[in-house]
Amino acid sequence: MSQLMIKQVSKKYSNGTLALSDISFEVEQGEFISIIGRSGAGKSSLLRCINRMIDVSQGDIIFNGQSTSHLKGKNLRILRTQIGMIFQHYNLVERLSVIENVLHGRLGHKSTIEGLMGLFTKEEKKQAFKIIEMLGLEKQVYNRCDQLSGGQKQRVGIARALAQNPKLLLCDEPIASLDPNSSTIIMDHLKSISKEMNITCLVNLHQVQVALKYSDRIIGIHSGKVVYDDNKDIDTEKINEIYGSHIELDNR
Ligand code: ADP
Repeated sequence: MSQLMIKQVSKKYSNGTLALSDISFEVEQGEFISIIGRSGAGKSSLLRCINRMIDVSQGDIIFNGQSTSHLKGKNLRILRTQIGMIFQHYNLVERLSVIENVLHGRLGHKSTIEGLMGLFTKEEKKQAFKIIEMLGLEKQVYNRCDQLSGGQKQRVGIARALAQNPKLLLCDEPIASLDPNSSTIIMDHLKSISKEMNITCLVNLHQVQVALKYSDRIIGIHSGKVVYDDNKDIDTEKINEIYGSHIELDNR
């Protein structure tokens, strides 16, 4: 059985906007998938449905063999610890240090009181340092996050997500605020996390060239519908369909 199954999912917001319309696809563990489409296509709504930040209006999402739609309380918390989120604007606590932000990734595994008191085990701290080192941030461990560059902040975001021990990473425009060099570093990290740790990555992207370079598979979304789902040979005509306009591949 696939790790993640999106089954005929639609999402209508309370103001009537239909953001997703009858979306279906399956994802295998360890796959690296880019989701491309222009702004407003529904990419972010899709990721938010997968980790239950928002609820689907129709259809179902099955993760590790379990329907996510009706999960509540402890079971919903367990689902969320298995799914790491990476955001365009990092969502760090800027006045806290790198290590403190990374340890925040452990909070889903703790009782409220342990979390409030900042009680982390030696093992958790050791693991956090290891992840920070893997992401090349060992010199910044005790720096406040507001002193970091955008690329470094995003690496903290990735480290925090990994501290959860996730099975799946949902990355919502992870490089949209970064320069080309930092973008390459972030995408390289995501790719190696997927391949070496066998963690599935679903990455929302604007840049077709980046999607082509890194992905095992590309899913194109236009007006809330899947208009492309394949692993290679995406051509200009398809790109035009996805973006609904005439964009040359080379210009992206
Ligand atoms: P993308 O990530 O591809 O830019 P989104 O999922 O953010 O697309 O948005 C898809 C559609 O849903 C857009 O028309 C957007 O305006 C709308 N939308 C997104 N979030 C909300 C919300 N909370 N309430 C109402 N409409 C929303």
